Amino acid sequence: MTLVKLFKRIWPFVHPYRWLVIITLVLTLVTSFMAQVNAVVLDRTVDAINALVHSESFEWSRAARILTIISIVLLGKEVLSVVLSFAQKYYGDRLRILVSKDLSQAVIEKVLTFKMAFFSADDNEPGKLQTRIDRGVESLSITVKNFFIDLLPMFTSAVLALVLMFSANIYVGLVALAIIPVYFFIVYRQATKLKGWRRDMRRFRESKSHGIMNILESINVIKSFNREKIEGRKQLDLQDKLTENQLQTRRVSFTFDGLKTFVEQIGTVLIIILTAYLVLIDYPGMTIGKIMYHVMLFGNVSAPIRQLQRIFDDINDAIIYAEGFFDILDSDDQQERSGTYRPDHIEGRFVISDVDFTYPNGNKALTGINMDIRPGRITSFVGLSGAGKSTIINLLDKFYEPQKGSISLDGVDLLEWDTRFLRDNIGLVLQKNHIFDGTIEENILYGNPSASHEDVVEASRKAFVLEQIESLPDKFQTKALLLSGGQQQRIAIARLFLKNPPIIFLDEPTASLDAVATEQIRNSIEAIKKNRTVIVISHNISQIIDSDYVYALSNGKVEQGGVPDEVYRQGGVYKEIIDASARSLNIEKIAETIASDRK
Ligand code: ADP
Repeated sequence: MTLVKLFKRIWPFVHPYRWLVIITLVLTLVTSFMAQVNAVVLDRTVDAINALVHSESFEWSRAARILTIISIVLLGKEVLSVVLSFAQKYYGDRLRILVSKDLSQAVIEKVLTFKMAFFSADDNEPGKLQTRIDRGVESLSITVKNFFIDLLPMFTSAVLALVLMFSANIYVGLVALAIIPVYFFIVYRQATKLKGWRRDMRRFRESKSHGIMNILESINVIKSFNREKIEGRKQLDLQDKLTENQLQTRRVSFTFDGLKTFVEQIGTVLIIILTAYLVLIDYPGMTIGKIMYHVMLFGNVSAPIRQLQRIFDDINDAIIYAEGFFDILDSDDQQERSGTYRPDHIEGRFVISDVDFTYPNGNKALTGINMDIRPGRITSFVGLSGAGKSTIINLLDKFYEPQKGSISLDGVDLLEWDTRFLRDNIGLVLQKNHIFDGTIEENILYGNPSASHEDVVEASRKAFVLEQIESLPDKFQTKALLLSGGQQQRIAIARLFLKNPPIIFLDEPTASLDAVATEQIRNSIEAIKKNRTVIVISHNISQIIDSDYVYALSNGKVEQGGVPDEVYRQGGVYKEIIDASARSLNIEKIAETIASDRK
């Protein structure tokens, strides 16, 4: 990204606040004019006092007048400066803060519209994405201030001081002018040298955040295996690279900084020598006061240019972070696609024909899938872990699109369905990650934000979690994340009851429930299947046998499909899984135990 492009990209975010920009600019310009006052006053004062001291008729009254005028001018200027610089800083920061707010909101709203494939790409892991967004917003909003508030006044200030120098004496002006390109050349060299390192730094920072996030997410695993040291060491490698990069950056920066100060000092020395020489040869208009005057003016030329370095650095940072940031804002191809089909009534029959699907990272998850999933019954997916069961649900929910084949709902291709409408009509209960930071009530209401408290209570009753919620001190206002895994799962099921959709997908809905709860939920699911399409992924043998239709999957393929008992009689994967489950449950022994009690 170039500077011009960066400017063009930022402008739409600044446009709403253009008045703020104008006000601040005017204030800053006035301040930079006032910065010249000291030099002018000093020049006049030295000369006036010099003249007074050397005149034959020295009068205290004249000296007093000079001092009074100086005091009034300088103090007046300072008072005005305080007021103006407050206003200028406040409005400048206000601009930065407001633009930063808009940038953040824009990127968040954008990211929310992206399809799942975006989030499963390696580059977009949560920690990395978060850093890219944070850094992007930060460096872009600083750039806004640099661009629109700081840059122009700095230039004006430098040019003004330069004009004053030229008008005082052309040679002095030329010396100052000659120093500037040398200074800029050094600044430019420094920036090019640092560019690659800065880019690496961005990558390191993203990886580091991701690493920290991973540690925090699995802290209990790390502790239970006593792997603190190993995890620490893993971070050290990255940390070392980061440190090396930072040190190198500093080394280069400080070397160049030294060089720049040196060049600036040479300028000052040249100006002193030149002015002193001109005074000595009695050059017209040259007085001792001019030595100070020229040095101060040169300071006014070089100070803003020194500041320019900081801006240059910030902008270089922004260019690098802006690439990542605007890539997100520009990712229109990442947006979820939607059709327009919104029927009045949903029957709920899914037909999957010859579907192949590969995840964005290259994992081939499904091959040649054919299914006919009908309403009014429970269809269960059976298969070993990794067989592709959840992936099919991902496709039915339009989280991903198949690369080959087609999926239709009620005879209409899923691609033609309005995606939001479709999801409004699907209830999804996942194994994990289904509870948000918020109260139990808020979490259940997620299923239908306009529902009443009574509806929430009723939904909890159906999900067999009401009693437990009511026994909590804060009842429905308890933080949902504090609940146990099984309770959370039932909150998710209550949410489903509240949503009351015609299509229901349950991915191991009873995985973290105890036996009693599993039994209860099984009954509720049996009760809701009427007039609905229910798909259950389960390892729970009783749930599988209870279903009306099963598909047995293995390695991304459908191996068998049919009524559970028939499929069992065919043998194959399904029989293997059911037999293994029965053995693991020790069903024969259990049956004996129960029978012996009845005798
Ligand atoms: P199941 O639900 O039967 O346990 P999945 O549908 O979750 O199986 O996974 C099928 C295959 O797809 C596995 O090999 C898994 O590693 C892979 N997979 C699942 N989710 C993703 C993802 N988001 N990105 C890449 N690969 C994935």
